[in-house]
Amino acid sequence: MRVSANSTSCVVSSLCVYRVPEVFDQDEEGHVIVLDANPPARLHELVRRAARGCPTKSIRVEDDH
Ligand code: SF4
Repeated sequence: MRVSANSTSCVVSSLCVYRVPEVFDQDEEGHVIVLDANPPARLHELVRRAARGCPTKSIRVEDDH
């Protein structure tokens, strides 16, 4: 899994950080930062949920093929 996030469209809702703190953090202005772009399998479902739940669709998840 590859995770990326668009800090420009992020509206600082903190939802993803709250849901998966191992993968998402916020910079000093509150915009999303990806801490782990290749998270372990046990976090994949949580990351997908966070991506679906992002109000601005700022999180992108790509599956490895
Ligand atoms: S859920 Fe989306 S809008 Fe909210 S902090 Fe995360 S990336 Fe930003």
